[in-house]
Amino acid sequence: MPSIVPINSHDPHSHSTGVIKFTNCLLVKGNNLVKEDLWISSLSGKILNGQEILYGARTAPDSIIDLDGRILAPGLIDVQLNGAYGFDFSVIPEDGTVSYGKGVRRVNRNLIRTGVTSYLPTLTSQRPEVYQQALPFLGPPSSVRDPTYGSESLGAHCEGPFINPNKNGIHNVSVLRTAPNGLTDLATCYGATYLQTPSPIKLLTLAPELPGALSCVESLTSLGITVSIGHSDASYEEAKLGIKSGATMITHLFNAMKPLHHRNPGIFGLLGTTSSSIRTKPYFGIIADGIHLHPTSIKIAWNAHPEGLILVTDAMRLAGMPDGTYDWTNGSRIIKKGALLTLEENGKIAGSSIKLIECVTNFLNWTGASVPEALKAVTETPAKMLGLQDVKGTLKEGADADLVVLNMQDTGVGQDKKLVVDQVWKFGEKVFERE
Ligand SMILES: [Zn+2]
Repeated sequence: MPSIVPINSHDPHSHSTGVIKFTNCLLVKGNNLVKEDLWISSLSGKILNGQEILYGARTAPDSIIDLDGRILAPGLIDVQLNGAYGFDFSVIPEDGTVSYGKGVRRVNRNLIRTGVTSYLPTLTSQRPEVYQQALPFLGPPSSVRDPTYGSESLGAHCEGPFINPNKNGIHNVSVLRTAPNGLTDLATCYGATYLQTPSPIKLLTLAPELPGALSCVESLTSLGITVSIGHSDASYEEAKLGIKSGATMITHLFNAMKPLHHRNPGIFGLLGTTSSSIRTKPYFGIIADGIHLHPTSIKIAWNAHPEGLILVTDAMRLAGMPDGTYDWTNGSRIIKKGALLTLEENGKIAGSSIKLIECVTNFLNWTGASVPEALKAVTETPAKMLGLQDVKGTLKEGADADLVVLNMQDTGVGQDKKLVVDQVWKFGEKVFERE
């Protein structure tokens, strides 16, 4: 077990500096694991400049944490989470928004125990009144940095309703819309107040081939909202126009879009395009749950554009719940068995309930990626996609001290390894320790 040694506790002249030093650990730095100490402040909740402290000799740490050779990584970021622990971000409870707010807080408190220190609560396509009731609860907290709140929303991911009815997946076709009048139509749907800077919406998935969509991409980008292409029937050329208009992401690559065809590579083709012809190659979400995608498809996408790959769970409200049979919509029921969710009546796949760290483990074992390369897909890369690369997903000085301590274990199956979350830190304070 790690030991926390209070250094100044017997010195009556000392005052608490809030400085914590992690030692005997492997830091995730770029594509390497580096044996180095990390210094953080529990007062500011940020990562400190270790060199400055060491050579300036100004500050002695309040405590030294010996991690016994384990991995210390930035906290994980999930940019597509529909719900968990029995709560669905897309459903306003019958007793109203107060109970919606309680549900969000319950997800936050539990989610952080899985190593996910920040995320984008994700709404599937809904009627306007749902967005307008839910969005006030889903924006990033303005100035509150309280570790006890748990995982932190970086803003909502609105997946739809401006998506293609032919690629709706589990989204309800009757609520899908188009935006021929651009921003005006978006405002009617999400609420004009939520399309002002700063918006509680951080990421918006739309289909670029729909009427008015390209003008929406430009407007949203200028508002600081990142646009992702998804649930789309776009040809390669149409997808390219989406990127040229400002979209920088693809929502769950391969799922809910045309498959790769040798004469029309579709949205996937963007990964093979030279950056100069489309501004920049897009980031892309990958659901590595062993159900949505074949491991080889994941490897091909990673080989095509390793810097763009972001692992997402796309998990829904049964994530974190015990196995069993649960009521679903329209009288259907869902059977949960481990990460697998199927409809009781026909055995069809009904979404994911995987944890993000399990996606990282799958990715490691399926692609032969190194541990830092796999962790990048849930830390540095999503942070960059959201424009938060100096604040989240990094161990650089000045970033938030959102951290996970990971233990690498053998699974007993061949050479397969497994990453286990041992500790979670939020804003410089330990908020979870595995028993
Ligand atoms: Zn989707």
